[in-house]
Amino acid sequence: MALYQKVCRGGLNISSIFHSPATIIDAEAIYREAKKPIYLHGGQEVVLRLQNDLADISDLIDISNIDELHGLHKEGSTLSIGAGENHAAIAGSGLVAQKAPVLCELASNIGDSQTRNRGTIGGAIASKTRSSDWNAALLALDATIHTTKTSHMAEDYFSRGGLTAGELITKICFEIPSKGIYLKQTRASSTDALIGVLVSRLEKKCRVAIVGSQRVAFLCPALEAALSAKFHQDVYDQSHIPEGILADNADASLEYQLNLVEVLCKRAISSCA
Ligand SMILES: Cc1cc2nc3c(=O)[nH]c(=O)nc-3n(C[C@H](O)[C@H](O)[C@H](O)COP(=O)(O)OP(=O)(O)OC[C@H]3O[C@@H](n4cnc5c(N)ncnc54)[C@H](O)[C@@H]3O)c2cc1C
Repeated sequence: MALYQKVCRGGLNISSIFHSPATIIDAEAIYREAKKPIYLHGGQEVVLRLQNDLADISDLIDISNIDELHGLHKEGSTLSIGAGENHAAIAGSGLVAQKAPVLCELASNIGDSQTRNRGTIGGAIASKTRSSDWNAALLALDATIHTTKTSHMAEDYFSRGGLTAGELITKICFEIPSKGIYLKQTRASSTDALIGVLVSRLEKKCRVAIVGSQRVAFLCPALEAALSAKFHQDVYDQSHIPEGILADNADASLEYQLNLVEVLCKRAISSCA
């Protein structure tokens, strides 16, 4: 059922149509028919957008009532998390704590209580925020992002630019690590990562993923190769960090960021040893 909503902003009446479909098929059908639609889940990003450009959004499609987007399951060697699961549910899940405690730890340090209880993993990944903690987890746990159109390996998802119009993330499958540690240094004014480092030990390899404020997230193949030969913090060398990705920014100098990367990598490697 579609509800017609009128929102009054600065004396200007702006209208958008609110939909609340119960199935993925219905949500996609509404999206196809609408002029300038947007999906809405926890609203933590969308509401910020609404404050700025509601006039450009013809239809708000609330996908939070779609059961198919929920669920936490072990599927073979992976942990499957429904796109509609919020950060608090992931942080508090017994299954996640048992199979990939690093994801509980990561989720429990996102934002404040409201953000954790409203914001979803699917919304975080769809909006491709640069400093999103989930981006580090996607890369370090070799995740597959399942959507209504296809399945994206995390690395491809980032390099290809994300979702196409109307594509919905349905679930994310993370390889279950034998160990994993996520450490982040936040900005002074928020819980966003200035630098976040996730080190994981998977069945056949180890991964080191870094999230910063400039690029979505990146892996460190040279450090991973060095750790495969000897898993010890002493193998860390600054030359292992890909050049040209981190740069001076308003929050921190390049030198400070590289220092953080070194400190966090060494601590995480030591905890995973
Ligand atoms: C105060 C605050 C603090 C925060 N702190 C952190 C932090 O410390 N670390 C961190 O990593 N993140 C942080 N975030 C980001 C937060 O995690 C995301 O805003 C949230 O998870 C987005 O999810 P949502 O369900 O609210 O998305 P929405 O706002 O509902 O949607 C976001 C975007 O994703 C699309 N979308 C939503 N679900 C899907 C889906 N299943 N498939 C396809 N597209 C979809 C929407 O159309 C929209 O474009 C913070 C946000 C806020 C507001």
